[in-house]
Amino acid sequence: MRIAVARETHPGETRVAATPETVAGLVRLGHEVAVQPGAGHGALIDDDRYADAGALLLEEPFDGAELVLGVQPLDDAGRSRLRPGTATLSFLPATLMLADLVARRDAGLTSFAMDYVPRISRAQPMDALSSQSLVAGYRAAVVAAGRLREFFGLSMTAAGTIKPAQVLVLGAGVAGLQAIATVKRLGAVVRGYDVRAAAAEEIASMGAVPVDLGLDTLEGAGGYAREMTAERAALQRERLAPYVAAADALITTAAVPGRRAPVLVHRAMVEAMRPGSVVVDLAADSGGNVEGVEPGRVVMIGGAAVWGGSNVPAQMPAPASRLYAANVLAVVTLLTREGDFAPDFDDEIVAGMCLTHQGRVRNAMLAELLGSEPAEPGPDPDGTPEEEPR
Ligand code: NAD
Repeated sequence: MRIAVARETHPGETRVAATPETVAGLVRLGHEVAVQPGAGHGALIDDDRYADAGALLLEEPFDGAELVLGVQPLDDAGRSRLRPGTATLSFLPATLMLADLVARRDAGLTSFAMDYVPRISRAQPMDALSSQSLVAGYRAAVVAAGRLREFFGLSMTAAGTIKPAQVLVLGAGVAGLQAIATVKRLGAVVRGYDVRAAAAEEIASMGAVPVDLGLDTLEGAGGYAREMTAERAALQRERLAPYVAAADALITTAAVPGRRAPVLVHRAMVEAMRPGSVVVDLAADSGGNVEGVEPGRVVMIGGAAVWGGSNVPAQMPAPASRLYAANVLAVVTLLTREGDFAPDFDDEIVAGMCLTHQGRVRNAMLAELLGSEPAEPGPDPDGTPEEEPR
């Protein structure tokens, strides 16, 4: 079958869903790969390298394509060029994109979302949320180190001792743990906090000191965090305040799936930081963990510079694309057999990440958000079971 890789049109998106290495992998699986010229430029990949890997370079790669690969969801113009029955595979943050979901359903597209790959062991090679969080966590640490006009590590010199920087990381999922590990490698003293029960051990295993606020843990479904009540949020902020005030650099990464990011740090807490302090908020795109943060900008709050991350993995397009494209290749391998598109909708991973198919929204949680029914109960025309929400 023909697989298309088009230039990303979303403003600021520099990543690409296939690299020459994964194109070669797709060709080995028996597929024809059509790449739009310039698709890899943002990630510093020349068209020639795609051609050498066996891709066709086509200005209209969607013509005749059965599967379209992307990082961001296609825009309206791109979507309108697809025939009913075409499958798309990209991130599809559907809580922000319900209109997009409806358009896909109505256009008869089969949409697979990398955001919805179930976090089970077998799906680890396909887990793009993790691979991109890893990039974002690393980037957060080096941004904090670069913006802080102080040493991160201890230095003993003839002219005296330079003390290590104090760094606080809030949220210790994939991004937070990677930020901790990176900051630690630069020599700073790191503290970390997360609401999940397992987090303290994970923070300690990275060489950081877990902060104990004396509060209950907040475990939600599937190992994720639960949303805080207003009382709990206020108490958490009150108890975090002295740790924030003592930090030279604060990195926040907290998220709750399907919800606005929790506000962990109020403006007054940042104002209590020393002049010259740095705050890096990776959750800025989803509302921010820090009150007053603006995605894609640096704002001064008191004497602290607050950096709001916006599509942070796209700031390291080459490694982010390599990892993402490898995730995508693993998914395509699952969705195809002997060169044909053959998704097994009984497979937990396929069912989890399929959002629209045959004119219906197939994910129960999203169907509920849309106020419509998911796949009808009872026998399905193509034998597809109803999937569980994540
Ligand atoms: P995420 O991006 O959803 O959230 C980031 C972190 O913010 C989480 O650790 C969460 O607990 C934390 N958080 C939420 N509210 C908070 C608050 N009020 N205060 C402080 N911290 C708060 O998380 P993620 O990186 O996607 O990881 C979520 C879970 O999934 C973790 O348990 C992780 O180990 C697990 N995971 C499993 C797999 C797998 O099995 N394949 C892969 C990746 C992650």
